[in-house]
Amino acid sequence: MVSETHGNIRIRRIEGVLTERHPVADSVPILFDSPHSGRTIPHDFVTDVSLAQLRTGEDAFVDELVSGCLEHGIGLVQAEFPRTYIDANRAVDDIDDDLLSEPWPGGASPTDKSARGMGLIRKHILRDVPLYAEPLSVNEVAARIEAYYQPYHEAVQASLDRLHGKHGRVWHVDWHSMKPFGNPMNVDDGQARPDFVVSDFEGETADPGLVEAVARWFGERGYSASINDPYKGAEMIRRYGAPGDGRHSIQVEINRRLYLDPDRMTKTDGFAHLKQHLDAFALWLVGYTQTG
Ligand SMILES: [Zn+2]
Repeated sequence: MVSETHGNIRIRRIEGVLTERHPVADSVPILFDSPHSGRTIPHDFVTDVSLAQLRTGEDAFVDELVSGCLEHGIGLVQAEFPRTYIDANRAVDDIDDDLLSEPWPGGASPTDKSARGMGLIRKHILRDVPLYAEPLSVNEVAARIEAYYQPYHEAVQASLDRLHGKHGRVWHVDWHSMKPFGNPMNVDDGQARPDFVVSDFEGETADPGLVEAVARWFGERGYSASINDPYKGAEMIRRYGAPGDGRHSIQVEINRRLYLDPDRMTKTDGFAHLKQHLDAFALWLVGYTQTG
């Protein structure tokens, strides 16, 4: 682990696991996080699928798209590991027993996400394309939880607690990107998706006014934005959102057609324009939390 300060930014990095950057002053009660943009392949990630297929599961460049937040006083936690190795945006026991060579100790609680092959440990990269030829041992999965999943959550939790302790309230935006159309592994198979989907678990993880204001902000800049449809949010906001306690967590999904060439996994010309808007969004959110 490396901790250092560059100018007014404090950086903490666990190589291959996560990087977090925080303005030293902690003067803004907002945290951004990007759990799915990591692309450092762990040494023990042995899979049958190609790197190109693996990368289709990645929310490519989302960390970079939102990193302008730092200039506006907002900290950023980002995963370095791929979400196809272990998914921080799932409950820790959302495990498909079919992936394992033995039962999960204490029993797993697979949700519909596991049923679609996208639980804590991903089963299929695309429909009918499994990641593993052989079942994983309980020890292998437990090691991924201990070395990757838990440190990521500890970093987010500690950052939110620190800001909440200082300001009495905290706002958290969990950033993702989505394919332009739903596919058979998703709840919205075949459907075209809007530019942004803003989610708060139907009002459970933030004051309802927040998702409405965020969707309106994007709408006013010419983007289409929906609320809680087709995504309601997942573990990253479920775990940290507690609006009654002044903890507001929302998920924002960005449509990849706005910035990504899906075949090459490279940025398109749209990237810079979108990043400018996301920089402006961060600045707007700072103002919102000061007056809201
Ligand atoms: Zn994601």
